[in-house]
Amino acid sequence: MTLTPLQDLAQSLVNCERCKLAKLGRSQVVFGVGNPHASIMFVGEAPGLNEDQKGEPFVGAAGKILNDLLASAGLSRDHIYIANVIKCRPPNNRDPEQDEVETCKPFLLQQIQLIRPKLVCTLGNWATQTLLERKVGITKVKAQAFYMKDFVLFPLLHPAAALHQGNLLVTLKEDFKKLKEFLDRHSKPAEPTSAAPTPAEPVLNIESPQPAQMDLFG
Ligand code: URA
Repeated sequence: MTLTPLQDLAQSLVNCERCKLAKLGRSQVVFGVGNPHASIMFVGEAPGLNEDQKGEPFVGAAGKILNDLLASAGLSRDHIYIANVIKCRPPNNRDPEQDEVETCKPFLLQQIQLIRPKLVCTLGNWATQTLLERKVGITKVKAQAFYMKDFVLFPLLHPAAALHQGNLLVTLKEDFKKLKEFLDRHSKPAEPTSAAPTPAEPVLNIESPQPAQMDLFG
């Protein structure tokens, strides 16, 4: 069976031992999941316990929140692709370390190159700083579009933040509303089909990239 380039990349990482996380208790590499042709991709930080066991990103408590937020923006997991910056669970869900990010980042970039999403929504500080390549706080940049070379970056708070601080769920809901507004502004109407049991994937039309808003970074 011939593998697609994305499947080939996933396969090449199954036994990855490029960084110390391979020996720190991960049970498997969590590559990513979803529509390989998605025009919208979500990027989180690193797998937690549930993700490590199941081999899929965002299947635990934060994943449930994410699913509800996606639905509020008219999206479902079938429409999108989800991956993390780090593909292996850090022990006790500690923050990723710089060497781990540096080791794993090229594979995230390859995923993005192969999927070619028009919009990448980063969840939390790690994903945002990794793709913006700037140490900027998520609260300063969240819920706005940054026109990168190959895609638009739309940073959002990490859904797990709402597990630790309940009031952040309100902020997350507001920010996903802004995401929906952005999608509505940049979507062509879906082609009418005879039977459409599920909402169609938004057809994004982001055609006039602008330079990233550098002034926001101080
Ligand atoms: N948090 C993340 O950043 N990624 C996951 O896959 C799960 C929780």
